[in-house]
Amino acid sequence: MHNNINNKVVLITGATSGIGLEIAKVFASQGAKIAFNGFGNAEEAVKALEQINSDILYINSDLEQANEIENLVNQTIEKFSKIDILINNAGIQHVSPLQDFSIEMWNKIIAVNLSASFHTMRLCLPHMQKNNWGRIINIASVHGLAASANKSAYVAAKHGIIGLTKAAALEQASVSSNITCNAICPGWVKTPLVEKQIIAKSQHLNISFEEAKYQLLSEKQPSKEFIEAADLANLALFLCSESAKQVQGAAWNIDGGWLAQ
Ligand code: NAD
Repeated sequence: MHNNINNKVVLITGATSGIGLEIAKVFASQGAKIAFNGFGNAEEAVKALEQINSDILYINSDLEQANEIENLVNQTIEKFSKIDILINNAGIQHVSPLQDFSIEMWNKIIAVNLSASFHTMRLCLPHMQKNNWGRIINIASVHGLAASANKSAYVAAKHGIIGLTKAAALEQASVSSNITCNAICPGWVKTPLVEKQIIAKSQHLNISFEEAKYQLLSEKQPSKEFIEAADLANLALFLCSESAKQVQGAAWNIDGGWLAQ
């Protein structure tokens, strides 16, 4: 696999925790320059990344706001002069039956999990086209390919991002094989987003955290093991390699067998 991302500029959304932070660490360790946003403990994420590579830029943009997304892309260009790789990772979850689903949460989830990627993609593509090279990786979910009850907004947004991925891939494929767009569809990965769901389950069923974790995995993921965020990062690295130049518009599941059932 010819894989040289040394000095490539990577914009990753939501890299202050979980999957995004792990991808940022793995890419930084390969010599990539990282620009990222995200809430929570940004300082800690910056420190962790700077220990790996000093070319790090944190931008405090809220992905619910289109103008703040423009600022995210503009500041990345100001500092690094180009964007080679865009990883749309940020995402939020809310669990509720559809008839009770709060309108505010619906709008938030569609904004962060879907519309924000439309904005980053429309803003980053011209920079990739200028250099005739680019990789867009959308962190979707198995919920982009199959539904679960009580996750209507998340499932709708994740199905949407796979459609967006395919549309972008088609547009690029007819022009240049140097710019690709693909989605990664993980099953359960142990991150803060999932820990909140395990805690809610343990409280709802009055069972221990460990029992709730086992039940959560057993329902959907035949391996009964969490996906490692580092494995997702390595799949993303592959999609950035020259060997993956003909992988275009894929929705690549990595899910312990979830979707094989
Ligand atoms: P996480 O909660 O650990 O991280 C989410 C990141 O998004 C954080 O950095 C957070 O600050 C950021 N974010 C949220 N709203 C934002 C906003 N409005 N503006 C800017 N940043 C914002 O979650 P994670 O589990 O690492 O999830 C990352 C991605 O992977 C998400 O898109 C999620 O849907 C997807 N995913 C996760 C799993 C899993 O099991 N954890 C499975 C499939 C897909």
